[in-house]
Amino acid sequence: MFLPEMILHCIRTLEQSGFEAYAVGGCVRDSLLGITPHDYDLCTNATPEETAGIFADHTLVRSGEKHGTIGVVINKQVVEITTFRTEGGYQDSRHPDWVRFVSNVEEDLARRDFTVNAMAYHPDKGYIDPFGGQEDLKNKILRTVGEPAARFSEDALRILRGVRFAVRFGLTPTDDTLQAMKTLAPTMDSLARERVFDELCKLLPLVTAKDLEIFRDILVQVVPPLAPCVGFLQHNPHHIYDVYGHTAKVVEAVSKDPVLRWAALLHDCGKPACFTLDEDGVGHFYGHAQISAQLANDYLLSMKSPTALREQVVFLITHHMDILEPDKKQIRRKMGAYTKEALLDLVLLQFADQGKPQEDSHLPAVMECMSQVLAEDACLTVKDLAIDGRDLLALGYSAGPDIGFCLHCLLERVQMEDLPNERQALLAAAQAFLTHPL
Ligand code: ATP
Ligand code: MG
Repeated sequence: MFLPEMILHCIRTLEQSGFEAYAVGGCVRDSLLGITPHDYDLCTNATPEETAGIFADHTLVRSGEKHGTIGVVINKQVVEITTFRTEGGYQDSRHPDWVRFVSNVEEDLARRDFTVNAMAYHPDKGYIDPFGGQEDLKNKILRTVGEPAARFSEDALRILRGVRFAVRFGLTPTDDTLQAMKTLAPTMDSLARERVFDELCKLLPLVTAKDLEIFRDILVQVVPPLAPCVGFLQHNPHHIYDVYGHTAKVVEAVSKDPVLRWAALLHDCGKPACFTLDEDGVGHFYGHAQISAQLANDYLLSMKSPTALREQVVFLITHHMDILEPDKKQIRRKMGAYTKEALLDLVLLQFADQGKPQEDSHLPAVMECMSQVLAEDACLTVKDLAIDGRDLLALGYSAGPDIGFCLHCLLERVQMEDLPNERQALLAAAQAFLTHPL
């Protein structure tokens, strides 16, 4: 396994002081998979205090010291060095109840969640792999270290981590691992919402529709607004899947952007609540965009999602049924009102929601129209107008709301191609407006 110079330096430095040190966890797994690790964690039998002493001439990050971790800053990067430890359950769902430093690497590996995450590596000694992580990686198997139910009971977040590792590396959980994940899924209710939300944010960009089906029961447990969608048939010739199945397809079809993934996941969750059947036996879901947006908002609030993410997701869901026209006037106004990024995301969500590309889809034309508007350097907000409030004051407008009102009227006329966005034309229109208000 390749280890960067600074990691080798840390290992050698600890060894020169008489301690053991290994690369451990994700970096070992990733290297075995041929993936360049995004960071390298080290473990050692030196206590945090000893590690801090050994690297006293470096800047140190000591916020994780209680749990055994010292961050050593080398070349502006932090190398985390953690004392071999074992740990208790996660009563507060955030931190282990206790950690106890132990003297050998095998004991440290035994506290880790999955065999593929429980390997260490030393440049001279090679792999330390007491639980068969290499074999499991080769066979693409996800297996807990030790008895699955016991390990998931210590920390229920491991269930969701298991889903993430399975999806990310194409691993199949062993029967007893999957069984325990499903049986113990309800215990995830007691986890800190932030931990669950963070984990879901890491998972969502990785999933395919098939993954969402395989791990459906586990996901529904942590995303309760999806529960009524499972098996909910739409009674509509345009919708061949149940609401959950359709949702899964849409999630896969949008890009990996977290806002789009969350919006896709929740975009139809209000459908079951709005379902009506007409006399021809065709299902309808009038008002479902609003209801879904409301449910998504409540859910994301409960999960303590960052506000910006929640607002963008709710916006997309609210508008996912809007009919967008390939009409420059409408596009300019919507781009100004929503921002061009939000409008683009909305079109992308609508694309994904349509399913397989439909020949009569108007969305390619909408996209084309958006590119034309952007290429024209269009006037989207009052800030883009060729005049501003000071010009209006100079014309004799009084300071206050009249100025904003006039600028918005001018913007509207420019966007509707009733006026060019040119200084003289705008000043003349503003003058006329002053003499003959609406
Ligand atoms: P990533 O590439 O996502 O960072 P990682 O394997 O490095 O993957 P981390 O969350 O950074 O994952 O954790 C580092 C290591 O610590 C894991 O490989 C695993 O051995 C162990 N670990 C992390 N969280 C837990 C947990 N909740 N229970 C048991 N072991 C854990
Ligand atoms: Mg990591």
